[in-house]
Amino acid sequence: MSGSSKPPLIWLNIFIFLSSFIVAVAIAPWYGMKTGYGVEHLLWFLAAFSFCNLSITAGYHRLWSHKTYEAHWSLRLLFALGGAFALQNSALHWSSDHRIHHKHVDNNDKDPYSAKRGFWFSHIGWMLREYNTNTYQDYSNCRDLQKDKIVMWQHKYYVPLAIVTNLGIPIALGLLHGDIWGMLLVVGVLRLVLSHHSTFFINSLAHIWGSQPYTDKNTARDNAVLAVFTFGEGYHNYHHIFENDYRNGIYWWQYDPTKWLIKSCSWLGLTQKLRVTPKLKIEKAKAKQALNTASRNISKLPNAALINEALNKEFEALMGKMSDYYDVKKQVLEAKRNDLVKKYEKSLLKLRYQQMKQELATQRKSWESMVAQYA
Ligand SMILES: [Zn+2]
Ligand SMILES: [Zn+2]
Repeated sequence: MSGSSKPPLIWLNIFIFLSSFIVAVAIAPWYGMKTGYGVEHLLWFLAAFSFCNLSITAGYHRLWSHKTYEAHWSLRLLFALGGAFALQNSALHWSSDHRIHHKHVDNNDKDPYSAKRGFWFSHIGWMLREYNTNTYQDYSNCRDLQKDKIVMWQHKYYVPLAIVTNLGIPIALGLLHGDIWGMLLVVGVLRLVLSHHSTFFINSLAHIWGSQPYTDKNTARDNAVLAVFTFGEGYHNYHHIFENDYRNGIYWWQYDPTKWLIKSCSWLGLTQKLRVTPKLKIEKAKAKQALNTASRNISKLPNAALINEALNKEFEALMGKMSDYYDVKKQVLEAKRNDLVKKYEKSLLKLRYQQMKQELATQRKSWESMVAQYA
């Protein structure tokens, strides 16, 4: 960006964001106080909100932008409709922007919603002015998606699809329940605004607020609170280092309904080839990051050199044990599949596996207690 002259405003976007926001915070509550909402409004709101957000997280994001799995055409069609309903531009356009975001994350000149330009810009400001006109029609980073007929169909008919879903769905529900205005306000506008901002938080808050367990080379954070509002996308630090993983929250206790949806669909045959990062790679990244943080903190201490040496020794030992363990684990799995491996060899291997597992656990404990002192 040169000088202080800002690119021209995009009035259509400003109108959509501003008017929907005013309706959601003023008119929807006013209508509710006047005529009251029923449980049907709440249930349809939740259904529509989930449909929109999951179409973005599982569809636009993890399927189309990152190719972390493959999906049956029926599921892709559903995501295409839900994405238009979410009013976040076409899947092709969204994915193109998002791939640039990952490639040039935090680069103020290239990342379309660079978090380094502040909360407002990364949240919504980037859509209010013509910041990205020179790349707007350039989808050369999405040639793979241009072969997806559903993606191209949605891109071509995005505007009519967006209008039909955003007006048609609430009106149909209004006719069904005898309250067209109520459904338009709750399932139409309130749902749209909350769906917009919960998604936008991933570009803004998830790059500002939270922890960095895997890398601090970019601004992305892990944030369990945000994960709740974003259907699992709050584990954004993990996502930025391992973007090809269909999971964002990798542990069972991390809230990632997008991951659960993709996994459940695989049991129904609707998704396949779900990609996960090897555990060894994840563990190594985590240890490396802990080492970096500790080294930085140690540098301020008087006996820094000595502690650093001990820390690095411990790190090397951990790396060694890790490689040994995952090596044996691989051998065990291979032996299991191979009938030619003799029984006693298999039990020997298993014994070694148990020993390595134990040794790694001990080493991990000692490592963790050491870095905890300098965290
Ligand atoms: Zn991403
Ligand atoms: Zn990001």
